[in-house]
Amino acid sequence: MEEFDQEKVIEEFEALTKDAERVQRETLKKILEENESAEYLQSLGLNGRTDIESFRACVPLVTHQDLESYIQRIVDGDSSPILTGKPITTISLSSGTTQGKPKFIPFNDELMENTLQIYRTSFAFRNREFPLGNGRALQFFYSSKQFKTKGGLAAGTATTNVFRNSMFKKAMKAIQSISCSPDEVIFGSDFHQSLYCHLLCGLIFRDEVQFISSTFAHSIIFAFSSFEQVWEELCNDIRTGVLSSRINVPSTRTAMSKLLKPNPELADLIYKKCSSLSNWYGLIPELLPNAKYIYGIMTGSMEPYLKKLRHYAGGLPLLSADYGASEGWIGANVNPKLPPELATYAVLPNIGYFEFIPLGENIEDRDHNNMESSFLRMEPKPVGLTEVKLGEEYEVIVTNFAGLYRYRLGDVVKVIGFHNSTPEIKFVCRRNLLLTINIDKNTEKDLQLSVEEAGKLLSEEKLEVVDFSSHVDLSTDPGHYVIFWEISGEASQEVLKECCNCLDKSFVDAGYVSSRKVNSIGALELRVVRRGTFQKILDHYLGLGSAVSQFKTPRCVGPTNNLVLQILCANVVKSYFSTAF
Ligand code: AMP
Repeated sequence: MEEFDQEKVIEEFEALTKDAERVQRETLKKILEENESAEYLQSLGLNGRTDIESFRACVPLVTHQDLESYIQRIVDGDSSPILTGKPITTISLSSGTTQGKPKFIPFNDELMENTLQIYRTSFAFRNREFPLGNGRALQFFYSSKQFKTKGGLAAGTATTNVFRNSMFKKAMKAIQSISCSPDEVIFGSDFHQSLYCHLLCGLIFRDEVQFISSTFAHSIIFAFSSFEQVWEELCNDIRTGVLSSRINVPSTRTAMSKLLKPNPELADLIYKKCSSLSNWYGLIPELLPNAKYIYGIMTGSMEPYLKKLRHYAGGLPLLSADYGASEGWIGANVNPKLPPELATYAVLPNIGYFEFIPLGENIEDRDHNNMESSFLRMEPKPVGLTEVKLGEEYEVIVTNFAGLYRYRLGDVVKVIGFHNSTPEIKFVCRRNLLLTINIDKNTEKDLQLSVEEAGKLLSEEKLEVVDFSSHVDLSTDPGHYVIFWEISGEASQEVLKECCNCLDKSFVDAGYVSSRKVNSIGALELRVVRRGTFQKILDHYLGLGSAVSQFKTPRCVGPTNNLVLQILCANVVKSYFSTAF
């Protein structure tokens, strides 16, 4: 077994972060040396130079779109050095929440190594505060299918590429993160069946489960809300030792049948526990008495689910996992004791070369009376990792070991502190997720705040917003914001009208408020959708080949995302227009 030396991992991290500036310089040099022969770099006239100044002078900032033609050639099987010196053999599909279609991103061994380094680093800090005993993890991991591209490259979501990598299992074992579910469940071809089996494995190994996790926290909430529907069936399987007929994927069925033995005592115990819970509060620690914490990405678009997660978690600590993307990892959560709302990520200076575009005006605490929108100003120059300033917001630019150079990730982060000389950043939002009609500009965060505010009116009725999204409707004149809500039960007309007004009023961006006052933006519309609509959206993304592990609800459905918009619109049961202005 691979030895895990917690203190050594922490020491290495301390050393790397003490001299982040030098490590960044060396990392860039290494990336450029390894990929000197790449056509892309050659065409930019670097001529073998590897210093930061030449790099910034020669290499432009790019988006995925700028690289699409290069990546497409790789996908189609051109094995000449295009973006990297060594040919790329694996492709990741990003979840593509925003654009509605997955993007192709190069994946290689270095990205895999980075992943393991991030896992080891955050585990070392986490385990120091919340040590695990011997046991297993209930991990809601789902691997999408890997397929071959036209050019013969293996392609799958980034999580799939990681889970299928030969180094993964060994590394997970070393950090006490072996799943209680067999591979046939993780790699099962039917997500709903895998979810059922994960739950069943969790119950079978209930005394051994040390923690519960998923990549993004949404999967954990989804799993336990499904548990509410199937718990009696699960108990029945355990009582009789016969697996439910709903599991019909042969490999999954065979693997699960080996684990399942008749155990009426366990079935009775679980039945009793579930029956005695009030509205499923504290479900997780009841089912899994030795779990120490719940672990997964809980920031950004996952924040709206925290309330529900806390409900299931009872008193169990929620620990946010790390920050990264299919394009590569960025930072590790080295302060695991902080609640998810305050979670920060310390950037690892050796896993890529990072730059940050200062955004000037903070999205989080912007001066709403300031009419001058930041997009009217010139975009400032990016700064280096150790040049960022405390309290400022930035857009992240990544240069990685897999052929992305000065790539705009599209995320907005805020510098909250420093760990030695590397910044600790908080994820703020996606930069391009904007509700905008004219001079108004509302981000994902603004939408979240507005929904939170209006959601308070629902909680007085003991109801909650299960999930939400938004859309700019320009088919009316003037255009207006549409907010889609799925609610946990039936709310009265009066309450929903109030919620609609509250949503409208809670977008406090000066551009929005002034436009609303003069009716250059129409009344906000709240559309309530049927229960289960957001699950249909999830299923839609799964159909596109994305994995549940990477799923993020699209908070704003753009005009190119027709199918999701259709699902939402087809399920509207009530709609209200604001009378707030
Ligand atoms: P994907 O495209 O599926 O690889 O997802 C990557 C994106 O997920 C990032 O660019 C972020 O927008 C988001 N993300 C990843 N990690 C976190 C995190 N810890 N907190 C908030 N958002 C995250």
